[in-house]
Amino acid sequence: MQANRELFDEVMVPNYNPSAVIPVKGEGSRVWDQTGKEFIDFAGGIAVNCLGHCHPALVSALKEQGEKIWHLSNVMTNEPALRLAKKLTDATFAEKVYFANSGAEANEAALKLARRWALDKFGAEKSQIIAFNKGFHGRTFFTVTVGGQAAYSDGFGPKPADVTHVDYNDLSAFEKTISDNTCAVMMEPLQGEGGIISPNPEFVQAVRELCDKHNALLIFDEVQTGVGRTGDLYAYQGLGVTPDILTTAKALGGGFPIGAMLTTTDIASHLKVGTHGSTYGGNPLACAVAEAAFDTVNTEAVLSGVKAKEQLFRDGLNAINDKYNVFSEVRGKGLLLGAVLNDKFEGRARDFLVASAQHGLMSLVAGTNVVRFTPSLVITNEEIAEGLARFEQAVAAVVNG
Ligand SMILES: *Cc1c(COP(=O)(O)O)cnc(C)c1O
Repeated sequence: MQANRELFDEVMVPNYNPSAVIPVKGEGSRVWDQTGKEFIDFAGGIAVNCLGHCHPALVSALKEQGEKIWHLSNVMTNEPALRLAKKLTDATFAEKVYFANSGAEANEAALKLARRWALDKFGAEKSQIIAFNKGFHGRTFFTVTVGGQAAYSDGFGPKPADVTHVDYNDLSAFEKTISDNTCAVMMEPLQGEGGIISPNPEFVQAVRELCDKHNALLIFDEVQTGVGRTGDLYAYQGLGVTPDILTTAKALGGGFPIGAMLTTTDIASHLKVGTHGSTYGGNPLACAVAEAAFDTVNTEAVLSGVKAKEQLFRDGLNAINDKYNVFSEVRGKGLLLGAVLNDKFEGRARDFLVASAQHGLMSLVAGTNVVRFTPSLVITNEEIAEGLARFEQAVAAVVNG
């Protein structure tokens, strides 16, 4: 059997349109496809592979746990899940952890918890959820409805009710919308999929204060920003604003599917026995790999390395821009960076992604106008230089038609 791109069209549901490149092996920030062509990976599996491909610590955790026990269900707890939960609570504001298998599931749990908390404490009136235009929270029906892109949530029939959207960083619109009937506010502490949009620190501070004033829970979706991505373990720590509930996934497992919702003991008490659950949530294999990823990332060396590597990316992208004049701005934080195309190249982010792949570089887009980079947090400086050189060739190819 030929496992090639044609087979995708034959046997896969057509909700994706993947590249013709089929990677078969990865090591650190290098990947090889079926033909042996080598790529530098600036995409990191969409901010998932925080330690690159096949990091020895993760491979050994996977092998070790794989020879002990794989799965138990939530009828029994397990050692890796307990250890990981303890480490997550020790390192954050949170006191309690719920494990899921993805970002959307962690967010689904957060939203259900917020609704249950509000119902228990204040009654059925307090059900409004405020979220932000261009926000992204996953693809389950509740999370995609809370996400700020109607194109993703329309066309599936009646949506979960009482979800309101306002513009990110628009404090006056937010102030007019929040009330005592607001149950929760869900936001990314830096919008990823929406185009790498940083929050205005005063805006986030004011959102926190207004949530307190109206007894609404503040939920930070750190699925993309979490686990070192912005140079802090979690982005809220760099913002100086603490949420009531935090969700984390993507980099949490370094490539193994896992998500988690973190909160306080008081709020967590509203998810009583039987109110919510997941067959695989807290699976020992996932938690063992995530524990190894967490131990490796949550060190001064890796976190300060992210800030140093951010500067290398910014310097390199600015140098490319000085030569080719393609970006209006390089924005983002840590290794969650976006090169925003200027008017001349408006809407052509995908062309840069395709040209990059042709020149041996894996990159991403965020919307139609931003080329996004979310590499491994431990990508070497040499790999950054080599990847930027390939990106420059790709930019030259796009500019020269
Ligand atoms: C990717 C992402 C999600 C969805 O995560 P899945 O694992 O795909 O369900 C949710 N929120 C944010 C901010 C994300 O970037």
